[in-house]
Amino acid sequence: MTDLTKVLLRRISQNGPMALAEFIETCLLHPVHGYYTQQNVFGASGDFVTAPETSQMFGELLGLCLAQSWQDQGCPDPFVLLELGPGRGSLMADLLRATSRINGFHQAMHLYLYEASKKLVDQQRKNLTGYEPLWIDSLADLPNLPLFCIANEFFDALPVHQYQRKGNAWHEQQVGISDGQLLMGLNKNPSVTPQLQARIEDTAAGDIVEISPQTQAIAAQIGNQIESHKGAALIFDYGDWRSLGDTVQAVKNHQYVDLLTTPGEADLTAHVDFEALAHCAPCAHSRLTPQGVLLERLGITPRAQALAKNLSGPAIEQHIAAHRRLTHPDEMGKVFKALALFPKAAAPPPGFQT
Ligand code: SAH
Repeated sequence: MTDLTKVLLRRISQNGPMALAEFIETCLLHPVHGYYTQQNVFGASGDFVTAPETSQMFGELLGLCLAQSWQDQGCPDPFVLLELGPGRGSLMADLLRATSRINGFHQAMHLYLYEASKKLVDQQRKNLTGYEPLWIDSLADLPNLPLFCIANEFFDALPVHQYQRKGNAWHEQQVGISDGQLLMGLNKNPSVTPQLQARIEDTAAGDIVEISPQTQAIAAQIGNQIESHKGAALIFDYGDWRSLGDTVQAVKNHQYVDLLTTPGEADLTAHVDFEALAHCAPCAHSRLTPQGVLLERLGITPRAQALAKNLSGPAIEQHIAAHRRLTHPDEMGKVFKALALFPKAAAPPPGFQT
């Protein structure tokens, strides 16, 4: 039994079953025993290797895409550059290096990082030496300026509520206790919200839908700032246009594990419902685009060829494998999707289409 299992059992025995969303949030962010609080989540020893950890090309291309959108919108000065969930800070470091020669971009930029894990804040500080990022716990702390934002594998880490349809009613998935063990079950009382009612049209009895209120709140906030002050957001994640089915996954040491067995020791994610995200943002949004397609449009192949000129031996093998991993449909190219948010009066950022 993990330390967090004991905390959860105590909490549930005092307060009754907790929503799956609360369980996910506690597993990831508990101040002592949470996954992001205690584990080394990145790299070969961690549970996942994200796109920016795979190759510098990812952050470089996103940086140039964002900077082009900044230029297309008249080079607003000053502006906020924000990353949601920066991990080790690699994406931002690559983005900043690639944009360092873009006239006026760094001079006009105020760098903000939104990060819940104190452990990762320390790594970000080290990786971004020479810049002076400000860390915020609430997006309400952002200054009212044009907002250029990136998020890679951030929204999939936010908790989801899960509901199963019985007849025409929706029942929420909860974590309770049976025989001294954590057990998943549905709330007997139905949940009634307009968002669930709307899903009666495109689902059948037995179907599961997921809703992430935090994703929707963040989309509303950044979308509003982009629409009123200019800017753009580039969002990369697992997911689809509309959520259907149980997509919550637990991964430990590169293996899928049961959600309830090792709370705090496994990474928990859910696919992003990009339709719900886009609809909460009161600005324009692009079509959802597979990551591989988008990176090709942004010029990953010529960039890969240019970098390859200075490599040999194992380094070039690794570089070719990284290019393939980021773009190939059998690897990250198709299962990861990209969405851009931008002002209704502006053109979409390069590579994105409406
Ligand atoms: N973007 C990075 C890291 C992805 S992992 C990369 O691509 O490598 C998810 C990141 O989001 C981590 O930095 C994690 O600590 C952060 N995070 C997760 N939940 C969060 C929350 N509720 N608020 C702020 N940051 C969060």
